[in-house]
Amino acid sequence: MAPPMRFRTLRPWLLETFGRPVHRVALDAGSTCPNRDGTRGRGGCFYCDVEGSGTGALRTGAGIAEQLERGIARVSRRDEDGGVIAYLQSYSNTYVEEGRLAEVLDVLRPRLAERGEVSPERPLVAVAVATRPDTIPDSALDLLADFSRDVPVWMELGLETADDAILLAINRLHTRAEFLDAVNRCRQRGLLTIGHAILGLPGDGREGARRTAETLARAGCSGVKVHHLMVLERTQFAALWRRGELETLDAETFVQWLADFVERLDPSQVLHRITGDSPADKLLAPKWGIHKNEIRRRLEEELARRGTRQGSAHSVRLG
Ligand code: SF4
Repeated sequence: MAPPMRFRTLRPWLLETFGRPVHRVALDAGSTCPNRDGTRGRGGCFYCDVEGSGTGALRTGAGIAEQLERGIARVSRRDEDGGVIAYLQSYSNTYVEEGRLAEVLDVLRPRLAERGEVSPERPLVAVAVATRPDTIPDSALDLLADFSRDVPVWMELGLETADDAILLAINRLHTRAEFLDAVNRCRQRGLLTIGHAILGLPGDGREGARRTAETLARAGCSGVKVHHLMVLERTQFAALWRRGELETLDAETFVQWLADFVERLDPSQVLHRITGDSPADKLLAPKWGIHKNEIRRRLEEELARRGTRQGSAHSVRLG
């Protein structure tokens, strides 16, 4: 038997939690973003493309129900016994008109697994909701807490970096304190939280990667998604990169920083993602030409070389 990994990955946790493989279906619920429409800011975060890091499916005319059914069909062709996570991915899904979130959840409801029992008619085992930490009204939390009585609800919240000056410089326009508050409010209502981080934002550096991990550990997020800075077409960063004013990490450096990051997480936190994935036609830099499994292998190798693992530096730093 292979020795256990030195960090906690998603697939085993999903198997342990749901007793079967589980697949994600990304949905575009037609949400928008307060950092694009002027409510919080304009122009969006510098790394975000105009589709709000999402699928753009709604603009093709596919409503939420159609996207869900297509996604479920796709999963069942791959794995007829698999469970499904409905992932409200695009933009800020709690920044919606009154009633819209309830409408979206109502579309999902008939397909929810009943008391954890997955069937072809009812394959949804969880719902994941991506949003900004500064844009979660209590009414949305109430609705999601109520929904979580049927299936777990995960709130996917972007921190990206723990440095407020960098959050401002990249036009992210929320603070570390707002992130911590959002995690706290979600946790109080029994919602799971997944904190997002980006390593290699300009000015953040290796120390920044460490600080961000410490913040995510301290916040008590149950899961973490982390990836390297990717420069995509149609983003603010694309213009900076084209002018030679933005550097990205090479794979070796990223693995070093990622190892530091993982060492500072809590040992219980599940790593939902450790590297970025983006369509080749959108990605400007960096072009590593490496499969994500190779990053995973290199991370494991680096932690083994150091004799450390996830959480090794957590207890020392946070007590
Ligand atoms: S990353 Fe999220 S918050 Fe930032 S501009 Fe894109 S959709 Fe808005």
